[in-house]
Amino acid sequence: MIPPRLEAKLRATCRKAVYYGFRHKCPFCGSSLRAFLPFGFEFTVLKEMKVAGGGYRPNALCPVCSSLDRERLVYLFLLHKTDIFERPGRLLHVAPEARLAEIFRTTENLDYLTADISAKTAMVEMDITNIQFPDASFDVIICNHVLEHIIDDGKAMSELHRTLKPGGMAILQVPVSQALKDTYEDFEITDKAEREEVFGQGDHVRIYSSAGYQHKLARAGFKVNAFNWIAEPGSFGGKRNLFGLSEQEPVFLVRKYG
Ligand SMILES: [Zn+2]
Repeated sequence: MIPPRLEAKLRATCRKAVYYGFRHKCPFCGSSLRAFLPFGFEFTVLKEMKVAGGGYRPNALCPVCSSLDRERLVYLFLLHKTDIFERPGRLLHVAPEARLAEIFRTTENLDYLTADISAKTAMVEMDITNIQFPDASFDVIICNHVLEHIIDDGKAMSELHRTLKPGGMAILQVPVSQALKDTYEDFEITDKAEREEVFGQGDHVRIYSSAGYQHKLARAGFKVNAFNWIAEPGSFGGKRNLFGLSEQEPVFLVRKYG
């Protein structure tokens, strides 16, 4: 019997050797890789609607630590475009991604809290449309790939805004269509297979358009910024895409006016 932690370590070492190369590097586990692995659903609608941050990507998953392209993008953005790792602050991480959570947990300046609809995967159970924390509780909120699952996303956005301190910031990633002019949603569609066909995932309730998403965030009171790493690739692995990021995926950084 090999203890599970040792087994995981051995598996990672083995994968590091199998995928070793110079084309890519994972910013989480530091592995030098010849390739990342494919990941994501292949539903036609995702391709037709040119959905960034979702759908099938050939170069998405780290074979060693299982980080995804979208997780690596958020990490690099926080590292190079914010002062989150230097400034003391209270961070709420909703639906926490494992690799990011590991980094935040071990960052001494952060007072770190994770929350999810089920407490199994986080420190506290939380309904994002009815957050149990008082106004102005957090300096930073990170809530990725949640809002596209929530019917009352306007209420969720206003709750995120309410619990953020004035001047505080949030990263709120969702998949966005680069083909749609307006967000497409239909709450009558509840069947999993039908949702897969029209939204590209069985538990999504809409496909945001990039403009529609940003307008909705602005209506909730946020100052919205969409950052495209490919416009300034320097700290993001350069044009050769060292870190295996999606070239289409923007980072949505919002701030509460302070
Ligand atoms: Zn990795």
